[in-house]
Amino acid sequence: MTRAPIISVQDLRKKYGHFEAVKGISFEVYAGEIFGLLGPNGAGKSTTLEIMETLREKTSGKVQIAGLDLDQDPSLIKRLIGVQLQASGYYPGLNLTQLLQLFAGLYNRTINPVDFLDMVDLRDKAKAKYKDLSGGQKQRFSIATTLINDPQIIFLDEPTTGLDPQARRNLWRLIAGIRDKGTTVILTTHYMDEAEVLCDRVAIIDSGRIIALASPDQLIDQLVATGFERPKEVKRANLEDVFIHLTGKALPKED
Ligand code: ADP
Ligand code: MG
Repeated sequence: MTRAPIISVQDLRKKYGHFEAVKGISFEVYAGEIFGLLGPNGAGKSTTLEIMETLREKTSGKVQIAGLDLDQDPSLIKRLIGVQLQASGYYPGLNLTQLLQLFAGLYNRTINPVDFLDMVDLRDKAKAKYKDLSGGQKQRFSIATTLINDPQIIFLDEPTTGLDPQARRNLWRLIAGIRDKGTTVILTTHYMDEAEVLCDRVAIIDSGRIIALASPDQLIDQLVATGFERPKEVKRANLEDVFIHLTGKALPKED
């Protein structure tokens, strides 16, 4: 991983009326990393993400993406980033192949939809409608759509919320693979196990403020250095391990 920041956010604030949802946060994201915004519901993760994606106005602060200023070059930034569409963008009459072609058209690109379906292991669903996919398949398809414009950076808002353990692990592998090919990934999650496995660095956000920012290992080491110990003896496996072991060791598919 190179240490060049590809995103720089300085003193970002967002007010909804009198309520300040994001209270002056600053962070940098390095090229080639998976950066996690962690926090409970309402912390301000989606607001922060959508401002970086040029989808929401900020109240104040400075955001630079790939050397471009968000205020001056939003349309150039849009071309460099991959954004998940809202589910409402998936026209119900179109199948996955047609949707990919439609989205490619929005970027003025010609693509081979099969390549994108292969990337997310959905080739056999080429003629399926979005609404007929499983939760995990929907998320995988949505991630494929973020890659259509060959972006430098992709943004994923809670990519695994509501998925079963296999589907979540499947997505972790997919997202790590995207990072390994050189794309920077910013994601939000409220699953700490996910962040620990997947993220190179995380910012923990609470009530609109960053309260910690480091790699998961560093944060854990810092806590342990304070003398913290888990209150209970930790078992060597948990119920999720049992479930995964029983229902799909190799985790090939959640379909
Ligand atoms: P998260 O993604 O971490 O759950 P959000 O960024 O969605 O948090 O929301 C942060 C806070 O801002 C919440 O209190 C939420 O209710 C509020 N909020 C989000 N969007 C709006 C909006 N459009 N209008 C008013 N308040 C909003
Ligand atoms: Mg959110």
